[in-house]
Amino acid sequence: MLDKILIANRGEIALRILRTCKELDIKTVAVHSTIDRDLKHVLLADESVCIGPPPSIKSYLNIPAIISAAEITGSVAIHPGYGFLSENADFAEQTERSGFIFVGPCPETIRLMANKVSAISLMKKSGIPCLPGYYGCIKDDINKIKNATAICRKLGYPIIIKCSRGGGGRAMRVVYKEQELKGVISTMFTEAKIAFNSDNLYIEKYLINPRHIEIQVLSDGRGNAVYLGERDCSVQRRYQKIVEEAPAFGITDEMRYYIGALCIKACFDIGYRGVGTFEFLYENNKFFFIEMNTRIQVEHPVTEMVTGIDIVKEQLQIADGCVLNFKQNAVKMHGHAIECRINAENPITFLPSPGIITRFHAPGGFGVRWESHIYTGYSVSAYYDSMIGKLICFGITRDIAISRMKNALNELIIDGIETNIKLHLKIMNDDKFRQNKNINIHYLENDFVFDEF
Ligand code: ADP
Repeated sequence: MLDKILIANRGEIALRILRTCKELDIKTVAVHSTIDRDLKHVLLADESVCIGPPPSIKSYLNIPAIISAAEITGSVAIHPGYGFLSENADFAEQTERSGFIFVGPCPETIRLMANKVSAISLMKKSGIPCLPGYYGCIKDDINKIKNATAICRKLGYPIIIKCSRGGGGRAMRVVYKEQELKGVISTMFTEAKIAFNSDNLYIEKYLINPRHIEIQVLSDGRGNAVYLGERDCSVQRRYQKIVEEAPAFGITDEMRYYIGALCIKACFDIGYRGVGTFEFLYENNKFFFIEMNTRIQVEHPVTEMVTGIDIVKEQLQIADGCVLNFKQNAVKMHGHAIECRINAENPITFLPSPGIITRFHAPGGFGVRWESHIYTGYSVSAYYDSMIGKLICFGITRDIAISRMKNALNELIIDGIETNIKLHLKIMNDDKFRQNKNINIHYLENDFVFDEF
């Protein structure tokens, strides 16, 4: 049994992992930067180790410091959470080489999936539907650009150029006309190099009005895998999710089975072990794979609420070498769950709003789940992501979940900094969202009026 786990993360996800560890009687080690010593998961962990100064590169991304912390505390395993080192194959490799269990897939799988071009090529081989595109790498020379021009002409505009190592909605650009192509490619080379230290670009057909629908899987790497249904993550700003829900509107049991079974087959084909998410764009009743995330995701709670399955618990058990102890037919979806990401940011410009929280009150009540580490006096640091909490509401129907979400958002008090609470309230009150009328990835930018917050 995993006796002691080091949690290589911070904030709400560190706390989320710690709570499940406690339930499973696993001892916990928190690591933290110098400004995070008062975080709730640090106070609740059995042990804690300071791993460096505030900049992530010196603390939460500092591989030697994290591995040393695991060594001196006698940890057995390292849980990377999401973000930071969670999809860093070198970190997974060094964790395993140093004799610890990495809570996640094997390093080689992470490496293959972290490169979107290799991920797409593997998925295609496995029979997963992908978008038409050019999945070789464009290079910044005249022949390659000529080649790219010919490919885009064939695909038809608009197209999207992405970096194979991109993430978080960055290093992606849409091209609407051939005249723009060359300019966009050269800007993208610089942008991708700066953001992801990679100049591997690829081209995909750009869908005009898709929804973002993703499938959660659990695979024990020992011949058993299940899908836990889908999440709709179409409400986005700047290609980043802010509201997620399960199940997705209009997805029938047949469609769920069709896409779920394909994802399970892909898990077997790539020898997948761990929790994972297959992300798709969905348009005209068709799914198109865009990427796979080989870690726990921010939005996992909506799936937990409708299936009753603790995904972190399953993840820890898989890491411990256990066989999944239920089959697909035991997975039942019940009711509806919605998650609002609460960000410390201006609700109109989306610019981060660091500072001290002068007053905080958490929401509560039946069907309300608040996942966060913040408290009155907590200082939101500019060093880290602006997400400071997640509010998840469950109801037997979507209407009930929305109505609980409205009440919970009204109860949630965070003063001293700017947050997107009012934006979420506006979405929950919006007729188009409530009636689920053609909500797609452009809903916020096209159909939404950003005024009077
Ligand atoms: P990241 O890894 O940065 O999250 P993704 O490839 O997962 O990048 O895409 C993020 C979002 O960008 C998607 O949810 C969708 O809104 C948009 N997007 C990505 N690819 C396409 C595409 N081919 N057509 C239309 N929208 C896209």
